[in-house]
Amino acid sequence: MLILKTVAEVKNFIKNVKEADKTIGFVPTMGYFHKGHLALMKCSKEQCDVTVVSIYVNPMQFGANEDFKSYPKDLERDAELAEQAGVDVLFVPEDKEIYPEGFNTKVEVGEDLTKKLCGIRRPGHFTGVTTVVLKLFNIVKPDYAYFGEKDIQQLLVIKRMVRDLNLDVEIVPVKTMREADGLAMSSRNAYLNPDERKAAAVLYRSLLKAKKAWEEGERSAEKLCDIARDELLCEPLAKVEYVEIYSYPDLKPLDEVKGAAVLALAVRIGKARLIDNVILGVEK
Ligand code: AMP
Repeated sequence: MLILKTVAEVKNFIKNVKEADKTIGFVPTMGYFHKGHLALMKCSKEQCDVTVVSIYVNPMQFGANEDFKSYPKDLERDAELAEQAGVDVLFVPEDKEIYPEGFNTKVEVGEDLTKKLCGIRRPGHFTGVTTVVLKLFNIVKPDYAYFGEKDIQQLLVIKRMVRDLNLDVEIVPVKTMREADGLAMSSRNAYLNPDERKAAAVLYRSLLKAKKAWEEGERSAEKLCDIARDELLCEPLAKVEYVEIYSYPDLKPLDEVKGAAVLALAVRIGKARLIDNVILGVEK
């Protein structure tokens, strides 16, 4: 596995891959790998000739009071895991590679997708995501790029960017990988102490409770959100940020859940801000 640090090195590598007519799979990440990241890499390995993974904690997608400075890092371990996963290139750029002196461009997807859920609570977050992901796509030129359903709004925003800007990349969604108690794997789970870690199982438990009610015929968006919120409120360590339901995949507000919908929530437990979701009404 190659570990490359500059845009020029990656572009040069990619040029050779393209000349050999090989397909490129790309997995953008912020590092501190867990089984969710590894599932994305596995999908890329299965589908593509060459797999490129990036690790970049993108300052542009963090708010002033967020965890940019404390975001967990372990490049040595990440490199080992990526190598074991069969990754061909690990791209680990420094800030000056991504945002050189004078950088002043933003890529912004419309408010119908970005001004709700995490987009409201983290102003500018998705602009930071789309700007860096478009840059990474232009550097890596992937045929396929893999994104986790755990970050469902991010996945939908990226898909919209790709469609609206006619990018030649297919976005491949990957199912959420979970711990045994249902907690979605996340680098931010590292912030939880043992009591908080136990408490964090409440996120998925709440989603499943609402999903069960939906399966039993409940169609009121408000009631389904209340079922999830009530379960969250039973956990004293959980501070609810939002519990919302929207149509899927266009994220329109709903009163009645008639077609496909996504029930999403964000919760603070200790120092961690955790998100999770379930999709209702889509055959999987
Ligand atoms: P991150 O490093 O947290 O920015 O995540 C990098 C990619 O991994 C994103 O596409 C995430 O949606 C995806 N991802 C994160 N957690 C999981 C998970 N538990 N299961 C599947 N994919 C995930």
